[in-house]
Amino acid sequence: MAIIQSATGPLSTADMGFTLMHEHVLVLWPPMYQQYPELFDRAAQMENAVARLVRACEAGIRTMVDLTPIDLGRDPAFIAEAARRSGMQIIVATGLYYQVPFYFHHRPDQEMVDLFVRDITEGIGRSGVRANVIKCATEPEMHPMNERVLRASAKAHRATGVPICTHTYAAGRTGLDQVRVFKEEGVDLNRVVIGHSDDSDDLSYLEQIVQSGAYCGMDRIGLPAPRTSEQRAEMIAALVEKGYADRITLSHDASCHIDMIPPGIPETVLPKWNYTHIPLDVLPMLRERGVSETDIRRLTVDNPRRIFEQDQPY
Ligand SMILES: [Zn+2]
Repeated sequence: MAIIQSATGPLSTADMGFTLMHEHVLVLWPPMYQQYPELFDRAAQMENAVARLVRACEAGIRTMVDLTPIDLGRDPAFIAEAARRSGMQIIVATGLYYQVPFYFHHRPDQEMVDLFVRDITEGIGRSGVRANVIKCATEPEMHPMNERVLRASAKAHRATGVPICTHTYAAGRTGLDQVRVFKEEGVDLNRVVIGHSDDSDDLSYLEQIVQSGAYCGMDRIGLPAPRTSEQRAEMIAALVEKGYADRITLSHDASCHIDMIPPGIPETVLPKWNYTHIPLDVLPMLRERGVSETDIRRLTVDNPRRIFEQDQPY
């Protein structure tokens, strides 16, 4: 058992319960709202977020890891209010997406490390919310600027002990590039989730990830492309069959509001891309494919708890 930080304060890992490891409350491009504030109706978005999070709670989800990085509109005050009003336990991230912001282009990497560490140890801005996970991303390939973010993430991880959860481009097998860099930085891969692994149709790629010690984040379930939910469930069942149930986490990568997709599209074209698809539709698919209740508990409860419990710096 360990005490970690959620958006609403300290959280015992014993109380995490059914945990979605890679979701978002908001995904935004903040400069738009600095210039055009009328484009974001905060009160309406809050009502929407609370309603969606309440539905997830009703479906049995207790904890959600919000992997929104600094440069995709991370809003700790919004997340904290939505968490408080809905009852969802939400863990907030620090870190950056795959395009390094211009701000850091000519600055020393240590500045990135220090800001990530400050988010984790002191809190994000004046929000009072502390980050408890580090997000980094590699797409479409590992270029030198991207590698800087990964190495900074690794250093902040080792300085604080909070886990790393990534975004990858599975078709480019960039999860293995991340594993290589993390190894070079001395990262214990037991504390890393290689995200979006379920976008891959390549079992040997996923086996190389789990054999490195890292977790396979099967965390885009409900996005119909590049893989249907049935295909994703099939791959999860195949990994479980091979004995890797203790190396898999589940999630949707869904959000209450994502501004890079026009309104109406997520609801009509992506109807299963929401927080309740796994508990309501996908767990039954896994059971049909022979995954036991013990293994389902590993994927949804035990593995997330273990990832967050290893909280010592090293
Ligand atoms: Zn994501």
